Amino acid sequence: MAQALQAEDKWKLFQDAVQEGVSKSNWHTWLSRIDVDFDDDPPTLLAPSEFHLKWIQDKHGDLIRSTYREIFESPNGPPFRVVEGLPPELPLEPADEPGDQMPTSMQKQSTLPETNLISRYQFESFVVGQSNRFAWAAAMAVSEQPGTHYNPLFIYGGAGLGKTHLLNAVGHHASEMYPDLVIRYVSSENFLNDFIDCIRRKRPDDFKHRYRGVDLLLLDDVQFFEGKEQILEEFFHTFNSLYESGKQMVISSDRHPRNLSSLESRLRSRFEWGLLTDIQPPDMETRLAILKTNAEFAPRPVPIEVLEYIAGLVSDNIRELEGALTRVTAWSALNRRDIDLETAQRVLQDMIAAEEPVALGPDEIIRTTASSFGFSVDDVLSPSRRQPLVMCRQVSMYLCRELTDLSLPKIGEAFNRDHTTVLHSVDKVKRILRSDRAVFDRVTQLTQDLRKGEGISTRAEGIHR
Ligand code: ADP
Ligand code: MG
Repeated sequence: MAQALQAEDKWKLFQDAVQEGVSKSNWHTWLSRIDVDFDDDPPTLLAPSEFHLKWIQDKHGDLIRSTYREIFESPNGPPFRVVEGLPPELPLEPADEPGDQMPTSMQKQSTLPETNLISRYQFESFVVGQSNRFAWAAAMAVSEQPGTHYNPLFIYGGAGLGKTHLLNAVGHHASEMYPDLVIRYVSSENFLNDFIDCIRRKRPDDFKHRYRGVDLLLLDDVQFFEGKEQILEEFFHTFNSLYESGKQMVISSDRHPRNLSSLESRLRSRFEWGLLTDIQPPDMETRLAILKTNAEFAPRPVPIEVLEYIAGLVSDNIRELEGALTRVTAWSALNRRDIDLETAQRVLQDMIAAEEPVALGPDEIIRTTASSFGFSVDDVLSPSRRQPLVMCRQVSMYLCRELTDLSLPKIGEAFNRDHTTVLHSVDKVKRILRSDRAVFDRVTQLTQDLRKGEGISTRAEGIHR
């Protein structure tokens, strides 16, 4: 698209520039937690608390101002806002740079440019139970001594069970242990896209450097390679090259290699050279433990019987489990009321009603959401950044994340955007659900309609256009 840089691109540039200007721990603890609201022009920077805001302004005000003004081509600013609903500040822990550290689980979700790791997915926030203990232990061992234990480590299991979380946790932990390690997390889709891109630009060596020059490669959702011969061939060479030079690989898949039928046997057998481990759906106890961890960040306390209720409602997908809790806590923040069992049951009504879940794809979600907001599908997919179109697009992304098993890059693809934009949108909608009743109602209505397979128009047409 022959267009000026989109706001998201500028935001990335801004983050990169700021990150370069500060120490690693300052970045992780403070500056990476600054979010942005593109709906304002020029965009507003969002801080999780007054304290946080004051801290970054005191210590890094000049850097932030000059970078912001240059990249967003704005003579003044940036405007700042403190956003409610983000996790509260924890007491600071002693660290090498005084007053600098914050538990990593508190950091906002974002990806780190060089490694591509998702900040939020760390071992600290990974709840270990029967269903994932073995995978967790193997992942821990590999991250403490990459390249020496199990190569590759192959983790498989159904959607929403924590594969992506574990892969990222390996990357974070390894980079803490060995700061010089070259680490790269990549989804199989992005691996393929990078490959196509380098071929198109006639720069195959770029691709080789990028993936054969790493010490730790974290390749997510390898089932995506099924039936794609050219990339399988390329990956086969990448694998051999890394393996031979003792570099660590951690690979995830939604099924056992033996069931990746269209992968050649030479590759499948290599997957079994190291350690194969599965992740099972969590038992009741683990589900409850995960909910308790998540509920600590809720704006209001969530009683145990509500957590138990949710844990009983959703059994085989942790993302759905978290999604149910988000809806309940959003409701309670919105109504400024403590949540009780009865209200939780009401808020989550559609999850009980869903006997046979309807298989949903992004097309239908986009269509339905667009029509509910009074836009066309083309509008949603366009680069336009005007409101309320942006909200409509972000809600569609959120619903794709909540209602399908699609990976972030896959969702991004459906919107012609990259996976960081999807992450950003999903987080943004989660926040807004807590503060904006109209959005909450609309998302609830859309969720119900889509779940019932009553997608397009009929009733969605009726509500606030
Ligand atoms: P997958 O890649 O297997 O589809 P994800 O890693 O994306 O699953 O996990 C889905 C969601 O569930 C994420 O928000 C993740 O943080 C959370 N999650 C998964 N397993 C755990 C766990 N053991 N403890 C805490 N959160 C978890
Ligand atoms: Mg995943």
